[in-house]
Amino acid sequence: MRKLTIDQTAAITAVMRLFAEEDLAKGVSSNQRMYCDRCGMPKPLPGFVGYSTYKLCNDCSIQYELARAEGEVNSIEEFVPSGKIINLDSRRRSSQGRLPPRLA
Ligand SMILES: [Zn+2]
Repeated sequence: MRKLTIDQTAAITAVMRLFAEEDLAKGVSSNQRMYCDRCGMPKPLPGFVGYSTYKLCNDCSIQYELARAEGEVNSIEEFVPSGKIINLDSRRRSSQGRLPPRLA
């Protein structure tokens, strides 16, 4: 597994945040919410990213891009059900545990 540098992590995060800003610029309201296929939470619509059949909130899409860049997962199908989380703040300290699988 390759570790990303702080700069690489920041770059990926910045790119994904741009999606949210683009949506806002297009007039998508942040008052609108949609359930994320990964975290299951109602998240602001701006910044949602579609991967295959999944729609991920901006936070989860960042997690996915980071996990993919680090080689932790190879596909969205592998990422969404795994519940594998990367804590953006403490990811340098230790590996985070897995969330319990979400009930379908
Ligand atoms: Zn999410």
